[in-house]
Amino acid sequence: KKTVTRLPEWLKTGIPGGGSANFAAIKRDLRGLGLHTVCEEARCPNIGECWGGSDKNAATATIMLMGDTCTRGCRFCSVKTSRAPPPLDPHEPENTAEALARWGLGYVVLTSVDRDDLADGGARHFAETIRRIKAKKPSILVEALTGDFRGDEEMVAVVAGSGLDVYAHNVETVEGLTPYVRDRRATFRQSLKVLAAAKAAKPELITKTSLMLGLGEQEHEVMDALRELRKTNVDVVTFGQYMRPTKRHLQVERYVTPDEFEMWRQRALDMGFLYCASGPLVRSSYKAGEAFIENVLR
Ligand code: SF4
Ligand code: SF4
Repeated sequence: KKTVTRLPEWLKTGIPGGGSANFAAIKRDLRGLGLHTVCEEARCPNIGECWGGSDKNAATATIMLMGDTCTRGCRFCSVKTSRAPPPLDPHEPENTAEALARWGLGYVVLTSVDRDDLADGGARHFAETIRRIKAKKPSILVEALTGDFRGDEEMVAVVAGSGLDVYAHNVETVEGLTPYVRDRRATFRQSLKVLAAAKAAKPELITKTSLMLGLGEQEHEVMDALRELRKTNVDVVTFGQYMRPTKRHLQVERYVTPDEFEMWRQRALDMGFLYCASGPLVRSSYKAGEAFIENVLR
């Protein structure tokens, strides 16, 4: 089987960052706050755009909660895995809220590893963090990007009811590829159930999901996924290129062209999604603050 090794032009990006003053200020502030952003740790190429947009209220960053060790092992993901990660830090909700209140960020995406070792999957810890952020700084927009809580709708409702603005859960890929791409405990149907449960718990919530392209999915499978997501009243969908983190991970089947990404964005809008970010470097949190302000608040 042929291996795709050469990076196409559109994926050869410069050093992340960009020269914007806002970006530099955020980076300086971060040093004193003790926050760990996925943006920096994953060396995300979008950091200049997300952190340094012209409107500071729209600046977006992603924070990882509940440690750096996941109980699952998806074949596209480089996060380390253990059956028994260290216990949760009980001070994390308060410390995170305190740091975010001082930071002056407009939009935060809170995400986490999956914690199947905890009875509630970490749902209460997640919810507590959101409540404290909103109590300290009501103007900050909060998106939670959660795992599937093993399909436990009650736990989804705990997070959905915590005062957040956007509930995101990623299906990651089309249904047929899910068993090869995600941990075997995850299924496409279970993820739809999570997205439906979030909407049911709080109908005014924006729900959101993300797919990686380039894993070998067929066009009709992507269409099927979009139809299922619309049927589940998911509001927002994003598409990005799958990038192989190391040689031990799934290989890239194909580099999807910028034109194809644009085609998927258009199709998603035609199908009634509220908005769609789609592009080779798009991650589910890509400029999420800007998109929310433009499409939901206006
Ligand atoms: Fe951070 Fe997500 Fe933006 Fe990357 S896309 S810089 S991880 S908020
Ligand atoms: Fe990575 Fe999330 Fe899968 Fe854990 S559940 S291995 S953090 S993608």
